[in-house]
Amino acid sequence: MVGGDAKRARSPGPNGLSTLAVRAGSYKDSATRAISTPIFQTTTFGLTDEVVEAMAAGTVREHLIYTRYGNPTVRACADKIAALEGGEGSLVFSSGMAAISSTMAAVLSPGDHLVSSRDLYGGTFALLERELPQMGVDVTLVDAASLDEVSDALRPSTRMIYVESLTNPLLHLADIPALAKLARRGGCVLAVDATFATPINQQPLKLGADIVLHSCSKFLNGHSDVIAGAVVTRDELVAGIWEKMLRFGGCLDPHAAYLLERGMKTLAIRMARHNENAQTTAEWLERNARIAAVYYPGLDSHPQRSLAKKLLSGYGGVVAFEVRGGDEAAWMFVQRLRLLDAAASLGGVESFVTLPFNTSHAALAPEERERIGIRPGLVRISVGIEDPGDIIGDIEQALGCA
Ligand SMILES: *Cc1c(COP(=O)(O)O)cnc(C)c1O
Repeated sequence: MVGGDAKRARSPGPNGLSTLAVRAGSYKDSATRAISTPIFQTTTFGLTDEVVEAMAAGTVREHLIYTRYGNPTVRACADKIAALEGGEGSLVFSSGMAAISSTMAAVLSPGDHLVSSRDLYGGTFALLERELPQMGVDVTLVDAASLDEVSDALRPSTRMIYVESLTNPLLHLADIPALAKLARRGGCVLAVDATFATPINQQPLKLGADIVLHSCSKFLNGHSDVIAGAVVTRDELVAGIWEKMLRFGGCLDPHAAYLLERGMKTLAIRMARHNENAQTTAEWLERNARIAAVYYPGLDSHPQRSLAKKLLSGYGGVVAFEVRGGDEAAWMFVQRLRLLDAAASLGGVESFVTLPFNTSHAALAPEERERIGIRPGLVRISVGIEDPGDIIGDIEQALGCA
């Protein structure tokens, strides 16, 4: 998509993930030899004969015309994410929801059917419940942990199976290789929201998924200062999703793209630290008498522990746990924290804490929360990259045991 004499740094050779995080996609500016990707903060690009011909021929995606269509700084992010996921093509968006909604709009047409896990990010759940039916798409929600339930839900009109690879807040895993087999047999695509795992811990395309989606607002950017989203998939699907991005307008701003590309350079080392700190925190919580239960795929107590060992190379930065004494005790715990922030996001370098009962799952009645496994006293912590002793020290004092 980048024209002129600027070269795109497609990372050469079979590099490791740390190398790809640093180098893949970064824009090489031949005029200045700048090491970091410049911010092309421009709405538009000068027209040339070549561009005018491309517009007439309908091949505009290959050229720099107008930033909603494409921009070198934005492209740098997409290329880096494609390299990290091992995918053919990628697009980045103004939010994770823009990536998810544009992808669904591209793949699903009126009369089509979608089978989705019921265990979803709230925004995605609302999209499936409120918007897709209005677009003439039938949605069946299933317990994606039951392959029989997924298989029984498939119809000849099913075009997509949709899951999150690691769910919020209880960290349930999707069996991507098994679901990919079902999708292939059913003649539909498997789309995976891989926000919690990141390509450092799991690459869904290599496990058989067709489409990977991200909220880059979380771990990929990692600094709690950018809202962005991404899709990675085969080139043939990228073309259709790009058209939806154009028409619905969910393109990423170049300045945000600059921050995202900069943030992703440290993705591999940040994830290594998130994985390590979360494991240490989860193990400490499991030994604490004031904690009734801990949910983390790196613990032997996780109900899908063997699947986690098979499908994940790291267990991520999110840990959930139940404080004894219910939601009231959990709320007191949050109010006593000094270092950790109570904030409704995750994946930043800072440790964050939220209570599903009054944030992500506040719309559900207590009985409905129980039914999906969210019991009173549940706390979700996004473990940051601070010193683990400081994180645990703050949790300890807020639990009232130090
Ligand atoms: C945050 C999040 C989203 C939505 O992303 P935005 O960037 O906030 O639009 C989608 N899926 C998951 C799993 C998320 O955590």
